Amino acid sequence: MNKKSIFELILEGEVNSNIVYENDYVFAINDINPVSKIHILIIPKKKIESINFIEEEDSQLLAQMFLTAKLLAKKYEINNSGYRLIVNTGENAGQTVFHIHMHLIGGEKLNNI
Ligand code: AMP
Repeated sequence: MNKKSIFELILEGEVNSNIVYENDYVFAINDINPVSKIHILIIPKKKIESINFIEEEDSQLLAQMFLTAKLLAKKYEINNSGYRLIVNTGENAGQTVFHIHMHLIGGEKLNNI
């Protein structure tokens, strides 16, 4: 059995965090170390280490991540001002938690990438 990710521990209530949204596929929390005024993590309930490990059968789950981003952007009123979605993958990208998550960042002007 693989060691549980911090996100699994949060989902199971073993680590405290404020879950701001949840459905059958995903849940969302505020990032503990925000890089912008709004910084939310959208996380599949199924543990997949990274984009390198997704399969065709994960299609619905991946779509749910984007649909949740859209929903939360509206909820936090950044849908019109704009926002960025990031999925870090692997060492060079700075991935630190090996359980797929999408960063939703916004609420202020972001530096160009
Ligand atoms: P990444 O670098 O893409 O793997 O992002 C992992 C993110 O998880 C970082 O932005 C961390 O700040 C965030 N993070 C780590 N532990 C927690 C936690 N307990 N609660 C909320 N966010 C966390």
